[in-house]
Amino acid sequence: MFESLSDRLGGVFDRLRGRGALNEADVRAAMREVRIALLEADVALPVARDFIDKVTEKAVGQQVLKSVTPGQQVVKIVNDALVDMLGADESELNVDVTPPAVVMMVGLQGSGKTTTTAKIAKRLSEKNRKKVMMASLDVNRPAAQEQLAVLGTQTGVATLPIVAGQQPVDIARRAMQAAKLQGYDVLLLDTAGRLHVDQALMDEMKAVAEVSTPAEILLVVDALTGQDAVNVAQSFAGQVDLTGVVLTRMDGDARGGAALSMRAVTGKPIKFAGVGEGMDKLEGFHPDRVAGRILG
Ligand code: GDP
Repeated sequence: MFESLSDRLGGVFDRLRGRGALNEADVRAAMREVRIALLEADVALPVARDFIDKVTEKAVGQQVLKSVTPGQQVVKIVNDALVDMLGADESELNVDVTPPAVVMMVGLQGSGKTTTTAKIAKRLSEKNRKKVMMASLDVNRPAAQEQLAVLGTQTGVATLPIVAGQQPVDIARRAMQAAKLQGYDVLLLDTAGRLHVDQALMDEMKAVAEVSTPAEILLVVDALTGQDAVNVAQSFAGQVDLTGVVLTRMDGDARGGAALSMRAVTGKPIKFAGVGEGMDKLEGFHPDRVAGRILG
């Protein structure tokens, strides 16, 4: 991920730094190249445009052009703008509320929602020392509930017993009651996915949120789907009160545009990155480190 973007930008900035003195036309020419590199990396068009406008405005300032190392200054401005575009560092979850803190997981089928639910449960239980329970509300996909139970056994995290035929909102109610009675700190709700964003899905999300009043609603999206991931996130953000995004398959060779556009398009922070199938393959998302990786 980000390799080709990083290579492209590296080339542009090496040339810029190599020139010594710079004038406004040099900066604008370099920014045109940066813009193309961002678009080729699948960054959403309005996001790329906004980014270039901001960077250009700062970089053509006289202070920058007159400095001893103008090329270096421009790279610094790009770095800061990238960190800004990726959002603040917010990879911790807000689970220190009156228990049970509900973390509701939403997303399309195949995005990695169930896997991510179990990864987060494991992390909260091991790293944050919380007493965690998971419940699957996915009555659409065959064996989804069993899949979560298996992951629960694998990670040592409790799962709500399955009652055949129960509907999502009723499962959510039962899970809340069980979590309260049994003294769980955190309850993760793995909601049903769909193949596409549709109204029935959104209505179900809202009904589940109403009975469980989540402290976090995390949208799981597949980074490999690029612009589609961004569109899906935009639709969800318009309908449910998301608190954050988890990008899965960041270990794949996605071009990175989804990661770069997500914050700007949804207004929500990327909280975690899935970097593999294993239960430990979940990382906090740190904008400064990502920017550092992109700019080498
Ligand atoms: P769901 O339908 O959204 O619940 O998707 P699943 O959790 O069942 O995941 C679908 C597939 O993607 C499974 O084979 C997972 O192991 C895999 N997967 C999930 N997250 C990641 C990730 O971050 N990296 C990789 N490489 N695979 C993942």
